[in-house]
Amino acid sequence: MEAQVLTHPIAQTMLTRLRQKSTSSLEFRSLVRQLTVLLGLEATKDFPTAPHTIQTPLATCSGTALDASIAIVPILRAGIGMAEPLIEMMPDAVVRHVGLFRDEKTLQPVTYYEKLPGGHLPDVCLVVDPMLATGGTAIATLQLLRKWGAVDIRFLGILGAPEGVAAVHHADPDVPIFLAGLDERLNERGYIIPGLGDAGDRQYNTL
Ligand code: URA
Repeated sequence: MEAQVLTHPIAQTMLTRLRQKSTSSLEFRSLVRQLTVLLGLEATKDFPTAPHTIQTPLATCSGTALDASIAIVPILRAGIGMAEPLIEMMPDAVVRHVGLFRDEKTLQPVTYYEKLPGGHLPDVCLVVDPMLATGGTAIATLQLLRKWGAVDIRFLGILGAPEGVAAVHHADPDVPIFLAGLDERLNERGYIIPGLGDAGDRQYNTL
């Protein structure tokens, strides 16, 4: 399977509310956060853990700690809304922003921000971008991360188009793709149909 898509009825209901044109920016951001938590759980199911003993107010308790270093990689700007809930879920994760925009004429990605430091590499990179449309920005981000030395990379998006999923899979077949929905197609401007419009504009009320 080229993409794992959330099938839970509540996730599908949230996605429907997200798509709705009349959904406010406030509710849109909240739905992005909630869907990202569900995607985050799926994408991290196999993360290693280590025993972690803690003290409850009543007793000593043998608990669990994540045993992997994690980098969350939001593609600016729309990816920021997905990075926030993941940091809350994995407070020890680092965030490495990557700035890419899509040239509206050529639909090709242009990098305007990337600061991936030398030294310690994370065990896992979680790339987040709500829309996997042509796949151009996702592929460019994966290439940056591979060049950096990242080995285990996973892509999390809210909506994908078959064209984008196939392009990412073709470019880097080792990257699993997690989506809340997979739509029919792209239009001539590279927008996902039926989609939800521009995920950045809808999150930040810049329509
Ligand atoms: N980016 C978006 O925000 N929406 C699309 O449909 C495609 C790319």
